[in-house]
Amino acid sequence: MLEDSHTARTELSELGEFGLINRLTSDVGTIHPSTIKGIGDDAAVLENGDLLTLVSTDLLIEGIHFDMAFTPLKHLGYKAAVVNFSDIYAMNGSPRQLFVGISVSNRFSAEALDELYAGIKLACKHYHVDLAGGDTTASPHGLFLALTVTGTVDKSKVVYRNTAQPGNLVCVTGDLGAAYTGLLMLEREKQVFLANPDMQPDLEGHDYIIGRQLKPEARGDVIRKLEEAGILPTAMIDISDGLASEILHICHDSNTGCRLYEEKIPIDPMTVATAEEFNISPVTAALNGGEDYELLFTISMNDYEKIRQLTDVSVIGHITAADEGCNLVTGDNVLVEITAQGFDHMNRGAIKG
Ligand code: ADP
Ligand code: MG
Repeated sequence: MLEDSHTARTELSELGEFGLINRLTSDVGTIHPSTIKGIGDDAAVLENGDLLTLVSTDLLIEGIHFDMAFTPLKHLGYKAAVVNFSDIYAMNGSPRQLFVGISVSNRFSAEALDELYAGIKLACKHYHVDLAGGDTTASPHGLFLALTVTGTVDKSKVVYRNTAQPGNLVCVTGDLGAAYTGLLMLEREKQVFLANPDMQPDLEGHDYIIGRQLKPEARGDVIRKLEEAGILPTAMIDISDGLASEILHICHDSNTGCRLYEEKIPIDPMTVATAEEFNISPVTAALNGGEDYELLFTISMNDYEKIRQLTDVSVIGHITAADEGCNLVTGDNVLVEITAQGFDHMNRGAIKG
């Protein structure tokens, strides 16, 4: 018999997602030399001849990660695939094969699942990935998706999260906070609809942020541009949980601090307007909103002239020594410690009040 060593009960909400992962995996090592990186980055890194193989997995659960009331199934399929590809780009790799596990209740018709797959297939076509397998089971209720993606990267080009150095510049692609404000809009219109089913959703003029929530793209285009410009990031992560949470991952894992400048954080005007409509600061949406799937990376100061030439990349601060802490310089020139309230799915109420 295996003994159960735990008699006390700890609530998952006390740990949060990262506390739980840490608790479950902090004593896990690796046996095989071919496991170059196990737990602890956007993807596992495995030896594969001259190349490295990357593997990443993501779960999407109805009612937690998506709401069938406003998520068209084709969009859901597309997004489920793209968020996986994003983790491969975050290692500086290229996605290659996708495996789709699906657990579904008889509430869904075959036609509905055709739509889901149309989205998955479209993403695979767009990102040049083969749908190479999966698994299908019944579910008592709801829809669960478990996607695994593999990718490849040259041995000399893999980029981890734990290798940022003091003096490096901190860069981010695209703009932040849009997917979260898009979600706020969709949730508000759902409530209006539930109260009065005759009301049509009023999403006009919000196409950009709604699109960012329902149909995100992974930044393979930036990975290619960096390569062409001869820039190899010193560390990289994708932004699934908000800028604050991700920069803290880089700094914590690299044993550094950072200084970011609020005024340099790229935020689209529509995100600003919508955040203000919901009485939250746009910077809070960028720092703590989730699901932008942009890339956050650090580069050597020597690459500053090169990075300046790239459109769609913003330099937002620099890496410091660990003892300087992780801070944000506000528009009023006040230093504020960065804390991760994160878009933590185990504690989603946290940023929505
Ligand atoms: P990301 O947000 O980039 O998808 P996560 O924060 O989900 O990454 O995961 C961080 C690391 O922890 C990854 O290496 C992931 O494989 C690992 N991990 C997450 N959940 C588990 C689990 N239940 N068991 C083992 N490893 C896990
Ligand atoms: Mg990631």
